[in-house]
Amino acid sequence: MRTPDWAVTIQQHLDRQGRVMVLTGAGVSAESGIPTFRGPEGYWTVGSQVYHPQEMATMAMFQRRPDDVWQWYLYRAALCHRAKPNPGHHAIAGMDTVLKKRFTLITQNVDGLHLQAGNPVQRTYQIHGNLFQVRCVADCSSDLHPLPPALIGRDKDRPLSPAERDLLICPRCGERLRPHVLWFDEAYNEIYFRFRSSLAAAAATTLLLIVGTSGATNLPQQVAWTVMQNGGTIYDINPEPNPFSRLALRSPGGQFIQAQSGRFLPDLLTVMQDALKSSNKGG
Ligand SMILES: [Zn+2]
Repeated sequence: MRTPDWAVTIQQHLDRQGRVMVLTGAGVSAESGIPTFRGPEGYWTVGSQVYHPQEMATMAMFQRRPDDVWQWYLYRAALCHRAKPNPGHHAIAGMDTVLKKRFTLITQNVDGLHLQAGNPVQRTYQIHGNLFQVRCVADCSSDLHPLPPALIGRDKDRPLSPAERDLLICPRCGERLRPHVLWFDEAYNEIYFRFRSSLAAAAATTLLLIVGTSGATNLPQQVAWTVMQNGGTIYDINPEPNPFSRLALRSPGGQFIQAQSGRFLPDLLTVMQDALKSSNKGG
């Protein structure tokens, strides 16, 4: 069987000691059964009022109704906690294993499934945060704490008890703890979301794989443009064409690969493993 073009391009990149970046979004997690929460699955009812995710995931709402925002996030955390990494996650973890320092993962997903699959946290930029971490709403320090396990897996509709509320108090200053996620009315920064690190890694990237995202948010778009401007190759791996597809086709050797990540990425990993074995240029 003839080797597909994309596989030849990947072999050439690895032979030339290229740097690989993977950028992932909700599509990768959807294959583990996690809804995007940007659509109707993310609607939340308080009394007779139905709130949209774009209202719930805001500092403005947290300041007004912190318990309701927490209840919504704890419901999401419970769903994510039950989910397991799928073959797409495992293939991306395998890429890190073979490429090591030549690999960076940028993810918009807050479910922690990439870390669970084995991607090391130092090369995984969770640019929208992580549902299983909390931090002080008053920013008295930039410490991240794990979400207390007692709060994972509770009933969706039960209001927070006083004891549960106590678990969500900053141990340092006594203010409330908040979910460690980027809200719609907040901006990216380096300390929590690796903003500058993401763009610096993009500038050094020779091959960008965009997987399961159509690039609705600002930083993923900047990452793709930075790779493009520095002459890198872009593969857009998504079930449907999207704004990244055209960008990919304009990059040198770039492609739009119409596929589900869980089906395609294991093949792509095999090509990488074979290329590194034959050239013995890992690391
Ligand atoms: Zn504090």
